[in-house]
Amino acid sequence: MALPKFTCLDCGKTFIAGDYMCQTGVKHRVETKSYYTADAPTVAEWRDGRPYINKAIARTYILNVPPEKMITENGEVRRIPGGTVEFVRGFFETDDPEVQFYLDRKEGLCDKKRWEEVYINDDERHQIKELELRAREQRVVERENELLASVKGKHAHP
Ligand SMILES: [Zn+2]
Repeated sequence: MALPKFTCLDCGKTFIAGDYMCQTGVKHRVETKSYYTADAPTVAEWRDGRPYINKAIARTYILNVPPEKMITENGEVRRIPGGTVEFVRGFFETDDPEVQFYLDRKEGLCDKKRWEEVYINDDERHQIKELELRAREQRVVERENELLASVKGKHAHP
């Protein structure tokens, strides 16, 4: 598989995976990408005498992203420890192309739709629906105003 290409937001350069340095010690920065995991937390706390899973504080760590690597510096081999990615509520976003590269290849992540099913509770679902409805109403009103304006315009300039 060909290595993916990225475009840096800072220097504008197009580069391939593996070539992450923008300037000495500073990585290229790319368009932010979002990642989701449906790995819901299973540790329940007690609320009102009932077990309750607090998804708001859910943390999922993915270790070794980017993985540990060896670099040679001034003729000496040095070990760079791997990174850790922290998903909060099953969500993580990054503009680091190296992290994106590895998360794009990571098993066990899911798409936004699945994530919403797992993480968004009924209240939030309701709120989102309400917002969507309101936005739709707003568009209808705008459309009507446009039509009205165009009708008036025709009358003014027959
Ligand atoms: Zn750059």
